[in-house]
Amino acid sequence: MSKTPQAIRGTQDIFGPDAEAFAFVVETFERVRRLYRFRRVEMPVFEKTEVFARSIGETTDIVSKEMYSFEDRGGESLTLRPEFTAGIARAFLTNGWQQHAPVKLATHGPLFRYERPQKGRYRQFHQIDAEIVGAAEPQADVELLAMADQLLKELGIEGVTLHLNTLGDGDSREAWRTALVEHFRAVRDELSEESQERLEKNPLRILDSKDRRDQRFVADAPKIDQFLSDEARAFFDAVTGGLDAAGVKWTRAESLVRGLDYYRHTAFEFIPDEGSEAASKLGSQSTILGGGRYDGLIESLGGAPTPAVGWAAGIERLAMLCGERGGEPDFVIVVAEDDMAITEAAAALQKLRAAGRSGELIATGSPRKRFDKAVKADPWAIVAFSSREGGVHRNIKADAPIVRMVEDALA
Ligand code: ATP
Ligand code: MG
Repeated sequence: MSKTPQAIRGTQDIFGPDAEAFAFVVETFERVRRLYRFRRVEMPVFEKTEVFARSIGETTDIVSKEMYSFEDRGGESLTLRPEFTAGIARAFLTNGWQQHAPVKLATHGPLFRYERPQKGRYRQFHQIDAEIVGAAEPQADVELLAMADQLLKELGIEGVTLHLNTLGDGDSREAWRTALVEHFRAVRDELSEESQERLEKNPLRILDSKDRRDQRFVADAPKIDQFLSDEARAFFDAVTGGLDAAGVKWTRAESLVRGLDYYRHTAFEFIPDEGSEAASKLGSQSTILGGGRYDGLIESLGGAPTPAVGWAAGIERLAMLCGERGGEPDFVIVVAEDDMAITEAAAALQKLRAAGRSGELIATGSPRKRFDKAVKADPWAIVAFSSREGGVHRNIKADAPIVRMVEDALA
């Protein structure tokens, strides 16, 4: 016999409680995005490579080493999407969604990054994503963060805190960048090899480094606050003020920069608190939701300057934290005690489902087995049918304490 091909490294086949938790995350997201009146969008899973290269930035981890890029049969370089934002920005421009601006968009689906697979980190993973395109005011940031906060609450996820920073506007960010280069250049030889490289290309990323050699110099690195323009400061104050008013808890994280080039002003991540149950469940892959304001991105794709803000969260990581909380709705098991009763039982089940009650038919094995299976499924009710004169066998009925008539189950 020939050997069965294995799944691709870093991909998952999700089944059982994990699949239920996954569905629970998506369903909850769908409900919450409607509460905030975000409109659903569906985007292609692949785009021209330049969509990501131009908007995410050539020097980022994603573009420099994580993309699944390939040439198609027509010789064009295409890439499996590593994130949603760039594709949404492309769609905004190519479909003329400016006419709807400001537009609140939500989506979910698979993404692809060539990373070292480990717990909570895969090569195909899934995100939920929310974006507001065409909104310059801090209230948009507040609304998005309030939505993220409510989503986590409705998923029953605890022990996770919003870490918030500002990267300032273009000018503040540039001044900060220059100061950071100066600061880190003085200790260049003591930095990790990766950060020595970042120093030239993407110095903000050094703040993000998990390498101890770098972290020593991060604590006393220049802070963005010294470089914020009055406007950028006012913007950040409006965001934090709005969060306080909305009852969203947050903490200031001065070294939080996020990996991508396109962020301006607000940048944030929801991270499990140290020592919390959530932290131990996730291991070292700790960030569950991240995002920020990307006022420069649409321009980098050739559009008019368009302010925007958004976030994305890993569905697998959220599902690990909320576990089986999704639970099943009350359901009914319909038992056909003997084969002659199957048609009638199946018809009754159809009626139950049409009335919105979920249910399933058991009609194989001995009559005793059928009831045993039904009881084991632990349903809200067992609805039994028999072709025997006098109805369902009395002994069996007595063993299954929740046998109901169809009318009861429908009530
Ligand atoms: P990390 O620091 O963990 O690599 P990131 O900054 O690359 O995260 P984003 O691009 O901000 O992540 O994506 C948002 C969210 O998507 C993350 O917070 C995480 O929950 C999820 N995510 C990102 N990459 C992966 C992956 N390879 N596998 C599973 N989930 C992921
Ligand atoms: Mg990453």
